Amino acid sequence: MTAKTTTHEFQAETKKLLDIVINSLYTERDVFIRELISNASDALEKYRHESLTAEDPFDGHVPLEITISLDEEKSTLTITDTGIGMSRSELEHNLGTIAHSGSNTFLTELAEAAQKDVSLIGQFGVGFYAAFMAGNRVRVQSRSWDGSEGHEWVSDGTGAFSITEMEGLRRGTRIIVELKDDAKDYATKWKVESIIKQYSAFVPFPIKLDEEVVNTVQALWTRNRAEITDEEYNEFYKFIGNATDEPNYRLHFSADAPLMINALLFVPKENFEVLGFGKMDPGVNLYCQRILIDQHSKNILPEWLRFLKGVVDSEDMPLNISRQALQDNALVAKLRKVVTKRFLKYLIEEAKKDEEKYLEFWKTFGIFIKEGATSDYEYQKELGKLLRFESSKSEEGKPVSLADYVLRMGADQDTIYYINGPSRNAIEAGPYVEMFKKRDIEIIYTMEPIDDFVLSHLGDFEGKKLVSADRADLDLGESEEESKEAENESGEKLDDQSTDSLVAWLKETLADQVGDVIVSKRLVDAPAMIVNPDGYMTSSMERVLAASRAEKGLGMGGDSKKNLEINPKNPIIKKLADLQKADADFAADVALQIYDNAMIQAGLIVDPLVMVERNYKILGRALQD
Ligand code: ADP
Ligand code: MG
Repeated sequence: MTAKTTTHEFQAETKKLLDIVINSLYTERDVFIRELISNASDALEKYRHESLTAEDPFDGHVPLEITISLDEEKSTLTITDTGIGMSRSELEHNLGTIAHSGSNTFLTELAEAAQKDVSLIGQFGVGFYAAFMAGNRVRVQSRSWDGSEGHEWVSDGTGAFSITEMEGLRRGTRIIVELKDDAKDYATKWKVESIIKQYSAFVPFPIKLDEEVVNTVQALWTRNRAEITDEEYNEFYKFIGNATDEPNYRLHFSADAPLMINALLFVPKENFEVLGFGKMDPGVNLYCQRILIDQHSKNILPEWLRFLKGVVDSEDMPLNISRQALQDNALVAKLRKVVTKRFLKYLIEEAKKDEEKYLEFWKTFGIFIKEGATSDYEYQKELGKLLRFESSKSEEGKPVSLADYVLRMGADQDTIYYINGPSRNAIEAGPYVEMFKKRDIEIIYTMEPIDDFVLSHLGDFEGKKLVSADRADLDLGESEEESKEAENESGEKLDDQSTDSLVAWLKETLADQVGDVIVSKRLVDAPAMIVNPDGYMTSSMERVLAASRAEKGLGMGGDSKKNLEINPKNPIIKKLADLQKADADFAADVALQIYDNAMIQAGLIVDPLVMVERNYKILGRALQD
């Protein structure tokens, strides 16, 4: 070794990944060629974009292309690109670490997933290491477009790599894969050619195999929709999304005003984020006149649309815009708005055409729509139409839209009601829905922690207010029937005077627990329930916030006190009024237990130790007589 050689250990995560790549992934080795071609293509795109503004780029005259050469005798496959190249430190960093947050869970998940489906490797930005699926040694010779000296990176993929300065390199990167004994096929032309044809049809640069160009360069999104087959679309999706599945939805549109746009967007089948892979990178690339300006662009769509794959091409964009300038470019913001609105409109239309299919989408990607609804005011109107929830009038597992709800509601109803709970059963058994059931008013069941944030953020839908049924000031009014009923019932109900004195006593007894005690106008059977005096917060929202405070070690925080509504028709409440006079100590235990029970029904936290002890005390007393 010369003095110019340095050796480096792979980052721990990379070692693990290489171990997976080398030892578990024998099948579907073909993808390594696709990974290397896709890196070459990325490097060429980057160079093409940078060179637009560069004064005098190194090797500026060299044509942009990918060359693959095979040597059956030496058993090597060599892929060369004239792209942006890598400096010494870039070689060390880019080919020694995993760009994607390489946490342990990520790797464990990947190891499992990769055994099932090797193409996943490409999805998580670890593509280069696929070279070790077929190679027992890989050499990377590279020279950066800044003209600094070139280097060779060498590794057998086990623990370390070396980097040595190398003379005589041109701009770009050459990767020499020294094939394993059982991977010698990859030095034969028929094999490699068929892989390129299969995987790399949309690479926007010529790919030469033994001096012969084997692909046709095309920008699918600029072609006439009528002339593109489903197959071509799907192949393009697989190429651009590094995917193996077929897209669920596809939107190809062009516009001339207010901006010139050609866009091709795909919704995948699978949501990798919920499969445990961490937050995904955006999947839409921004082009200008077919030149890639921003790959996996964070700017062209809002963050909550990161699950989309595809291309947005606008001729109005200045070609020489730098990636940094995209972020606060007014034109990009306008483009983002147009494309986002257009996509949401498309989804709304698709849902109208085929609700079943939309519900499949909703199951997989609904969480992103909810994320948008809680974070992006700009598209609330559209997002509201895309939401789906179960309700007291929906079938189990068949969520309905807010528009459906509005269609069903009575002429005099001006509010859409919802209530949170862990499940349909739990909600229907709870106190909050009693009056809704009795009055035949539909109520939405929000069963995910984020749901109440979504609805309270939305505020209203088509002019109807969205209100949580655990609000203290909820007023369902009283129907004529009910006021008659109330008169007839007067015998069964605790009389007003006793009620007043019970309420006063409860306020005192539960002074540490509740803000206020109120006689309920809406409880039918249950003895009591917790309601929220803060019109914005629901119990579910509070639970989420408390959990996140606890996670951050901030303690429970100052949760606001709730109100307790009691039902004077309920036998326990009636008896409590007597008990309070006869045995105030025991009555206090019962009152606290009623409060705890109501808290539990609201999904809120009680102290289980205290609660169980008290409960035994009450049981003991019940069994005495
Ligand atoms: P990804 O392509 O998803 O970033 P890879 O593992 O395929 O992940 O590549 C890692 C990084 O190595 C790339 O992001 C790029 O910076 C660098 N790289 C790989 N191949 C090349 C190449 N042919 N030319 C220039 N840089 C490359
Ligand atoms: Mg790659």
